[in-house]
Amino acid sequence: MPLYEYRCGDCKSRFELLVSHERADQVACAQCGSENVRRLLSVFATQRVGAAAGAGLEDFSAGVGGSCSCGGGSCGCH
Ligand SMILES: [Zn+2]
Repeated sequence: MPLYEYRCGDCKSRFELLVSHERADQVACAQCGSENVRRLLSVFATQRVGAAAGAGLEDFSAGVGGSCSCGGGSCGCH
């Protein structure tokens, strides 16, 4: 899941949340619970220039543990 940064319009606090893309605009303030929050560009999204951020992360996770070439589990990484 992508990491998003938000700023609360009520208490002015900034916070970061890991949320799915579908829920990115449905978060509440971590400090006061207000839904008057505005999403900022996250570091993650900035680095990837916003292109398919969520899909890229999932692909990376799926590759971990599946890239071992030992074949029989003798390397101890399984
Ligand atoms: Zn707030």
